[in-house]
Amino acid sequence: MWSYQHTGFTVHQIEALSDNYIYLIDIAQADILAVVDPAEITPVARACEQLGRTPTHILNTHHHSDHTGANLELKARYGCRIIGSEADEARIPGIDEVVSEASSFNLNGVEMHILDVPGHTRGHIAFALGDALFCGDVLFGAGCGRIFEGTAEQMWHSLNKLSQLDDNTQVYCAHEYTMANLEFALHADPDNAGLAARMERTRTMRQANTPTIPGTLAEEMATNPFLRPLDKSFRQSYASRHQIRDDALSVFTHIRNAKNHW
Ligand code: ZN
Ligand code: FE
Repeated sequence: MWSYQHTGFTVHQIEALSDNYIYLIDIAQADILAVVDPAEITPVARACEQLGRTPTHILNTHHHSDHTGANLELKARYGCRIIGSEADEARIPGIDEVVSEASSFNLNGVEMHILDVPGHTRGHIAFALGDALFCGDVLFGAGCGRIFEGTAEQMWHSLNKLSQLDDNTQVYCAHEYTMANLEFALHADPDNAGLAARMERTRTMRQANTPTIPGTLAEEMATNPFLRPLDKSFRQSYASRHQIRDDALSVFTHIRNAKNHW
């Protein structure tokens, strides 16, 4: 378990399954311990025991079982209240409360922002608290989620929305995919010196079994090939190399397809 201090709360990071991360948002003064995307119960129960705390809430970014797998067991054991997307009410096990970008949402008075970020699934949401963003399978370290239920346009719109958050936002995504994503990123964005440096840093971290997550939004803006279409000169050089139109959506769609066949 790794812990990160933010103003007013701490985030604990737990490894689960083969490459998932589960997060515990610990707001001690409000007596909140919220579990984000519990893939499985054992590592969550162990972490709670270590902290001497009981989980109070479950926050699900989307319905996939590697994000909701322990919902019912955690609810049965601890009585957690389960929060998920309004659009996925029928697909999130044990859901107690639905949220969306339009609704305001707070945990015992601590305000959280919900962002609708469809594309990976149609009901995918992200949770933002202070400078921490819990974005599930939308934005990864140097990558983005596969488009299972939405369109490329929706996914691009969702990524754009995240790109508008503060540069210092800490991105807590749900998978440790950064190293593999970087291999593709170097292929898609070969002239980016920042990418090569990130690859070196990431390799060192992974060799030491250190998580590469969280990272900053600024780093993603500079090196994530799925956000790079926001940069005009990248867009133009990528489009001319691949002989496609140089608007951001065309470039994003091409990169997403290329990654699918990588
Ligand atoms: Zn997923
Ligand atoms: Fe996932």
